[in-house]
Parts: sequence; C-alpha cells; structure tokens
Amino acid sequence: MTDQVPTAAGSTPGRRLEASAVAELSAGFGGQLVQPGDPDYDQARAVFNGMIDRRPALIARCAGDADVVAAVKFARAQELLVAVRAGGHSVPGYGVCDDGIVIDVAPMKGIWVDASAGVARAQSGLTWGEFDRETQVHGLATTGGRRTSTGVAGQTLGSGSGWLERKLGLTCDNLLAAKLVTADGEVVRADESQNQDLLWGLRGGGGNFGVVTSFQFRLHPVGPLVTGGMMVWPRARAGEVLRFWRDYVETVSDDFGSAPAFLTAPPAPFVPEHLQGRRPSGSSSAAPVPPRTARPWSSRCGPTPRPTSTWSNQCPTRWPRASSTTPLPPACTSTGRPRTSPS
Ligand SMILES: Cc1cc2nc3c(=O)[nH]c(=O)nc-3n(C[C@H](O)[C@H](O)[C@H](O)COP(=O)(O)OP(=O)(O)OC[C@H]3O[C@@H](n4cnc5c(N)ncnc54)[C@H](O)[C@@H]3O)c2cc1C
Repeated sequence: MTDQVPTAAGSTPGRRLEASAVAELSAGFGGQLVQPGDPDYDQARAVFNGMIDRRPALIARCAGDADVVAAVKFARAQELLVAVRAGGHSVPGYGVCDDGIVIDVAPMKGIWVDASAGVARAQSGLTWGEFDRETQVHGLATTGGRRTSTGVAGQTLGSGSGWLERKLGLTCDNLLAAKLVTADGEVVRADESQNQDLLWGLRGGGGNFGVVTSFQFRLHPVGPLVTGGMMVWPRARAGEVLRFWRDYVETVSDDFGSAPAFLTAPPAPFVPEHLQGRRPSGSSSAAPVPPRTARPWSSRCGPTPRPTSTWSNQCPTRWPRASSTTPLPPACTSTGRPRTSPS
C-alpha cells in the first residue's frame, strides 16, 4: 500500500512507500534514504537538466556496495521502477524517475591509483574533476569528460568522448574492469578473464546491465602542464570557422583535442558583450542581455550544489598554423582579447 504526500501548491505529490518496508531497509543502510517530504528531498531529486522535475518515491544515497545490493533487492521486492544516478548529467534525466527508486551512487567517491601499473580503480560516484585530481598527482589521466562535473559512471557506460580521445581512445576503450550489482542483487566482476561479454556490453552499452559500483581504468602520462581554452566567434561566421576547423584538425598531431560548439548567452563575464545573447526580436529593448552571474541552471527542484561555471578563463597564447589554405577567422579569445591572425 502506498499513499500520497502533500507538497507545495501546484506541484505533483510524490508517492510514499509503506513505512515498515522503508524502516526495514534503513536498519542496515550505511547511506541516506530520502523520501517525499524530507528536507533534502528537492535537492536529492534535482539533476543537471533543470527542466527535469520528477518525484521518486525513494532516493537511496548509497555509501558502498552493500547499500546498492540492499537498494536493488528492495526495488525488486516493492516492484519499483529503478533509476540509477551518478553525476546526474543525463540530459533526458535518466538518473531520476517518477514514483520509483533512485539508486544514487554519488556518495561513493573512493579512488585508488596504482601509478606504477598505470591503473586507477574508482568508485562510481566520482565526477571527472574528482577523478582527474587524484590521477594528476601522478601525472596520469585517461579520457574523461569535457566537463569536470560529468559523472565517470554514466559517461563511461555511454562510451565517453573527451579531449584526450584522439590520442588515448574513448573512455570505454580504457575501461579494464568493472564491479556491478546485477538485477538479482548479485555482485559480479567483469574483466578480460571473467564475464567478458558483460565487459563488452558495459563499454558503451549504457546502464542496462546492473548498477556499477566501481571501474578500473588504464592511465596514461598526461601533463601536468597542458594548454587549453576557448576561442569564440560570432554565429555569422560559423560556416567559415567550421570549415577551417575541419581542415585544421587533419593536419595536427593526436595531442590536439578540440570540439566546436554553438553557445548562446554563456554565463561567463569574460565573453565580449557583442557575443552575448540578445533579447528575442520584438522585445521592447534591443540592449544585450547582461551576462548571467548567478547560478546559470536554475532548477524548479530548488537549490542544488552545482558549480556556477567551469568555463576556462585560459586561452592558448599561440595558435599553431594549419597547413590548410583556409585563413583562421579573427576570433575573440576567452579572455576577451581580439585575435586578428594566427601566430
Ligand atoms: C554539460 C554536459 C557535458 C557533457 N559532456 C560530455 C562529454 O564531454 N563527453 C561525453 O561523452 N558525454 C558528455 N555528456 C553526456 C554525459 O556523458 C551523459 O549524459 C552521461 O550519461 C552522464 O553521466 P552521469 O553519471 O553524470 O549521469 P547520470 O544522470 O547520473 O546517469 C545517466 C545514466 O547513466 C547510467 N548510470 C549512471 N551511473 C551508473 C551506474 N553506477 N551503474 C549503471 N548505470 C549507471 C544510468 O542509466 C543513468 O540513468 C555531457 C552532458 C552534459 C549535461
């Protein structure tokens, strides 16, 4: 039996599970169980995409493998829809569901780096920023996300594209092993010597094979000094810039990682005013929309601990010359300095 809990006016009530069942689960649970009506509920159900507004019946913030096993068995017994959440970056919001259980592995942030073997074992709650921080102590890295706040788990299971991929392959190419909890609550390891087919599926097959609790990655020497940054052009020059970029990347070494993106009104004060977003046509004022200095991803789910911005404020001081005949269009760099020609 379930009932509905009242919430703020206008919002959909969340399903409430039978109290005795939740109490039984919580008896041995090392992490935190959050239900509709709890003070942490809105924060715990919020994901990166602020347009997603789902209300799970239970959020199991797991502290370790045993909590994940308990949560999976609970979901089976209660016949609950399951969403698995790590970094919370799924754009369609796969990390949260209505009326089911969210198995949240985000609190599981252990990482062990064996520098001499070039291997890292990482629990599935790490973000790429947290992962890189530990491996960079040893001057090592693997292909991670382009954003530091993206989850290691969801990105790896979705194959993983990042700045280092030209040189080191996709994230899943560097996945050596994984430990996961299957739908029947069993803990299994998948590597090159056992459950090889499962490892094959985890290398890009998404979150459909169980709840991964830890990953083992191959590491490579990277840095510690790397050059990175953003170069910005007006949208009107997109064709010119993309053609240059297409030709240019063919000419440079695999050490060079890059990606084009179309951005509007980026929440970074260093972006020159003429590149910032404008009011929709027909608006009473043609003045540029001021840069957003507050938290850019407002969420209907209430306050969340997301970073305001991870945009780089560094830029390369030298842009290597391409052998392409296409001239590099003048750009504004991420520091706002105009760039007139390639150096
Ligand atoms: C701003 C932004 C930048 C991005 N940049 C990149 C990028 O550079 N490269 C790239 O490849 N992708 C990128 N992505 C896409 C991102 O990698 C995927 O959305 C990925 O699923 C996010 O993983 P997560 O753990 O943060 O998400 P979550 O929302 O927590 O998880 C997404 C889904 O992954 C599965 N999953 C997560 N954890 C587990 C687990 N422990 N066990 C089993 N299944 C699990 C589940 O199906 C879950 O619903 C970006 C997304 C955003 C929003």
